[in-house]
Amino acid sequence: MPIVTPLTKLLNIRVPVVQGGMQWVGVPELVAAVSNAGGLGILTALTQPNPDALREAIKKTRKLTDKNFGVNITLLPSINPPDYEGYAKAAIEEGVKIFETAGNNPGPLVKFFKQNGCIVIHKCTTIRHAKAAERMGVDVLSIDGFECAGHPGEEDIGGLVLLDRASQELKTPYIASGGFADGQGLISAMALGASGMNMGTRFMCTVESPIHQTIKEKIVASTEQDTVHIFRTLRNTARVYKNKVSQEVVRLERRPEGAKFEELRDLVSGARGRVVYEIGDPDYGIWSAGIVMGLIKDIPTCEELLKRIESEAEGTIERLNKLCGVTAKL
Ligand code: NAD
Repeated sequence: MPIVTPLTKLLNIRVPVVQGGMQWVGVPELVAAVSNAGGLGILTALTQPNPDALREAIKKTRKLTDKNFGVNITLLPSINPPDYEGYAKAAIEEGVKIFETAGNNPGPLVKFFKQNGCIVIHKCTTIRHAKAAERMGVDVLSIDGFECAGHPGEEDIGGLVLLDRASQELKTPYIASGGFADGQGLISAMALGASGMNMGTRFMCTVESPIHQTIKEKIVASTEQDTVHIFRTLRNTARVYKNKVSQEVVRLERRPEGAKFEELRDLVSGARGRVVYEIGDPDYGIWSAGIVMGLIKDIPTCEELLKRIESEAEGTIERLNKLCGVTAKL
């Protein structure tokens, strides 16, 4: 039986699972596969070289699915400052109605999307930021715990406490992000008040994900101990795969004199990280991965994954009901 939550109703999706924005990974083939499987696929705007290319990606996604999907725009320090406004306008003009925002100072972007009647999911790593986003009028908060891939913020608050705090403090529906890969994760998030969950690394490791097969196999072979934080000293912390390049970045940052971004730029550039996914060399550059890798044991299709999550969720509820002496099914 489908799980119905404020998220599934708002987004008109069957499974309360969102595929989070992922640089170089959120492309039409994956996005459509997630939406066709019953979740919400999200195109990553900055993966496209310019706003016109984003228009083409939106059109391509529409050809591959008639279901809802969204567009992610992430506002973080960048080597080449992106034309955020141009990407946002292009997506609106192409009729996109769901956006995921993340990063610093999302106010103007959120205002623009709300003025255009869109649904906004905003990713936050603290309750303080979540409350500020509520005041901006976002529709859904994506509460991103310390476990997450990419940028976890600087406060290091794990998902368990962050989600419970969200249930105490927030009035807006929220989804759980960072550390989620399966049905029991979904039910634990819902026990902490969430309306669903966001998954990134788990979707990287699916048949339809555009990254090289060798990297998918590397994720399967990796454990929860195979990530590292870079940019801690620059207050732009990012959780990435622990490899030769990321360990060199950490070494440079830990020198008594620290490291300036300029010294790290060639090692960390996204353009170099993209090559990892293209040629399948996990040591070529920096690539994002969450500690959830420890839970990932296979490379299913998105449909297999979401069906399995639904059945695991049902099994988890039955198990919990038995603990309480209740025999009722979902
Ligand atoms: P990039 O090549 O511009 O930068 C590589 C990394 O260095 C990124 O983590 C970036 O935040 C960081 N960085 C850049 N300039 C910096 C500075 N002056 N000080 C500190 N850190 C700095 O990044 P990219 O891979 O081409 O991605 C473009 C943008 O998208 C970046 O802002 C990046 O953080 C962001 N991003 C988006 C997603 C997503 O899922 N949407 C995921 C990861 C990163």
